[in-house]
Amino acid sequence: MRSPFSFSSRGVAIDLGTANTVVYVCGVGIVANEPSVVALETRDGVRKVRAVGDDAKLMLGKTPEGVRTIRPLRSGVIADLEVAEEMIKHFIRKAHGGPRRFTRGPEVAICIPSGATSVERRAIRDAVTNAGADRVSLIEEPMAAAIGAGLPVADPIGSMVVDIGGGTTEVGVISLQGLAFSRSTRVGGDRLDDAIASYVRRNFNLLIGEGTAERVKLEIGSAVRPGDGVGLTTRVRGRDVGRGMPAEIVLNQAQVAEALAEPVNQIVEVVRSALENTQPEIAADVIDQGITMTGGGALLRGIDTIIQDSTGLPVRIADDPMSCVALGAGRSLEEKVLRGALQAA
Ligand code: ADP
Ligand code: MG
Repeated sequence: MRSPFSFSSRGVAIDLGTANTVVYVCGVGIVANEPSVVALETRDGVRKVRAVGDDAKLMLGKTPEGVRTIRPLRSGVIADLEVAEEMIKHFIRKAHGGPRRFTRGPEVAICIPSGATSVERRAIRDAVTNAGADRVSLIEEPMAAAIGAGLPVADPIGSMVVDIGGGTTEVGVISLQGLAFSRSTRVGGDRLDDAIASYVRRNFNLLIGEGTAERVKLEIGSAVRPGDGVGLTTRVRGRDVGRGMPAEIVLNQAQVAEALAEPVNQIVEVVRSALENTQPEIAADVIDQGITMTGGGALLRGIDTIIQDSTGLPVRIADDPMSCVALGAGRSLEEKVLRGALQAA
């Protein structure tokens, strides 16, 4: 196989998400898309990485003794620096296509949440440098998402992007290669999963794990109540709180929509508040352009409808919403007109 770096630049873009990490190699495209999970083994007090990404997620919840899986990012920012660095190393190695004779590391563009503090920015930059990058630039997530979704960021037209990830929802208003306004809330896919788990516990006395709650969301989750009253159903297994024994119930879509109502409403509110704070001229453009949604949460049934109804604006879900951020960061490395979206680290 030809090395991704044997032509064009040595650019690599990384979307280090709370839930998934997506890697883009310039001139090649997306080369990896894996869960942001690391399996660690502790022996004699020393931590060692056992597996990263897909391999680590397989071990989730069924790890052998001494091994535990962790997600080094929380709410979009690095919670465990050392482990995050190991994860970035793994992905940079993957981008290189295995061990090769490179004397220089790649130029890496890495995404950061728009509200990241200077301390958080520095932590990310250092982690990427320690993982072997030669040059590091940062790009704010809503900006990358907008570019990846094909919005006209280099033109004097205002547009709005809403990215619902695992840990956060980011709303960005973009005009002329800059974020005119952004707002972030710590409500994303994880919070939706939690809401399902607590609903099941409250109403059925059943304890379920994160993985089960997420499966319910993917299978029958909805931001709006089903038209026929009940909608789809799914079986859910867990442990009965009182008896401590395994038990099974059937959940329907109306119940899941009820469980999700509060966090969904928080997402709607952050979009509305961003619109209220947008300068009038840019807001006028948003009426024409509408709202574009990205991130895995954009795939929740009815989330576009509920945002459309509560803002009165047209809402579109981007193609391949979970790849937009990595794609946009990659394009800003590749295309001269988009370079302005990158910030020196
Ligand atoms: P991050 O950027 O934080 O890593 P992603 O954009 O990769 O997040 O989105 C991951 C989130 O999207 C997870 O919470 C996942 O459960 C959720 N998700 C993925 N597909 C769907 C779907 N079809 N319906 C609802 N939520 C989804
Ligand atoms: Mg994301």
